Amino acid sequence: MIKSVLIANRGEIAVRVIRACAEAGIESIAVYSTADEDSMHVQIADRAICIGPPTPSESYLSIPSIISAAEVSGADAIHPGYGFLAENATLAEVCVNHGIVFVGPTAETIESFGNKSIAKNMAQNAGVPTVPGSEGALDAPEDAAEIADRIGFPVVVKASAGGGGRGMRVVQSAKDLKDSVAAAMAEAKHAFGNGDVYLEKYLEEPRHVEIQILGDTHGNRIHLGERDCSIQRRHQKLLEESPSPALDDSLRLKMGEAALKLAEAANYVGAGTVEFLLDRTGEFYFIELNARVQVEHPVTEMVTGVDVVRQQLRIADGEVLGISQDDVRMNGHAIEFRINAEDPDMDFMPEAGTIAMYSPPGGPGVRVDSHLYTGYTVPPNYDSLLGKLIVWAPNREEAMNRGERALKEFVVGGIKTTIPFHLKVLNNAFFRKGDVYTNFIARRLLSE
Ligand code: ADP
Repeated sequence: MIKSVLIANRGEIAVRVIRACAEAGIESIAVYSTADEDSMHVQIADRAICIGPPTPSESYLSIPSIISAAEVSGADAIHPGYGFLAENATLAEVCVNHGIVFVGPTAETIESFGNKSIAKNMAQNAGVPTVPGSEGALDAPEDAAEIADRIGFPVVVKASAGGGGRGMRVVQSAKDLKDSVAAAMAEAKHAFGNGDVYLEKYLEEPRHVEIQILGDTHGNRIHLGERDCSIQRRHQKLLEESPSPALDDSLRLKMGEAALKLAEAANYVGAGTVEFLLDRTGEFYFIELNARVQVEHPVTEMVTGVDVVRQQLRIADGEVLGISQDDVRMNGHAIEFRINAEDPDMDFMPEAGTIAMYSPPGGPGVRVDSHLYTGYTVPPNYDSLLGKLIVWAPNREEAMNRGERALKEFVVGGIKTTIPFHLKVLNNAFFRKGDVYTNFIARRLLSE
């Protein structure tokens, strides 16, 4: 039985996991760097342990520091959140060796899905459609020409070990190809310690649609429907919604089945997300599987009523999934707005500083997941996500109206945020119609 969980993370996701622990009657143990002494997760956890200086490699990314904190505090389990060590197979393995439960998939699963070209091969072997491209990683830059010729330009060169929108280069024509591949290999080696890259057809104006899955240790697997994450800035998500305006029941069924087919083949345990690109003809292609909880999980929680983090804890504890596929019902519409400490008028430059005034919105159908409070100082050392506003309403139109109302109520003083930007998205006629795709912001909003 898991009685205590150490949360190897910070910010809003640490707060989210602590809340799930509290509701499950599990003791929460926060860890923090010296930059986060005053952070919300430190204050609301049952216990908190300082694990080092602000530099992530010496604190939130330090496996020895995290494991010692778990040993000293007697934690039964470690929840890694997302980012930091969430997809680090070594942490999952070290946990097992120390008799600590890792709240997530096995080290082996994390390892195979952490390499995007291997993951793509797994999807192909499972009969799940993938974006046309190279068979696995390229051996040499010279090999790219023939493949690009076959699939046609534009193509995208992707780092096998890339993630979070990093390690991707779009190549428009044959003359730039060899140099781009060589540069991408060098860059990947430097950034991820693995120089493998692969080639993919660059789809024009696709949607990003992903399926949330859950699998327990007894072989039961379900999906919780989709999230449409097409509103992106430089391949990073900014706004997510469920259901996707592009899916009908039959496509939802097909995509859900494809996601489960891959999960099945990988013997997947835990919460995960199978990501697809969907084109205008309704064809969809697997791009990657995220073996962790995602930032945008709340939209799924709002429409299905399933607490994804609570399920992660139950699965880690060896419990049987209490929900069957037939029990999963999608009700109404949810939209998540990522509130980042960024200045949308200055090319989304990250901001740091003190929150002079914090007043989140409330009322019906409004949820805010955030670690902010008035007087809190946002440290410059970490990513810019300050929190998420999630709204729910019976249908998309009402959810958009509620989102607008809540964004206007939302006060984050003293620092620039993405709140005004989301209001622009909500006022865009194409967004209102649900006519969105991954380059929507660049084409419809920034070009104005
Ligand atoms: P990451 O692991 O960095 O998140 P993904 O492979 O999930 O990278 O892709 C992130 C985003 O990049 C997608 O949501 C989409 O906007 C864009 N993208 C990725 N692959 C393609 C492709 N083949 N064609 C067009 N856009 C793509």
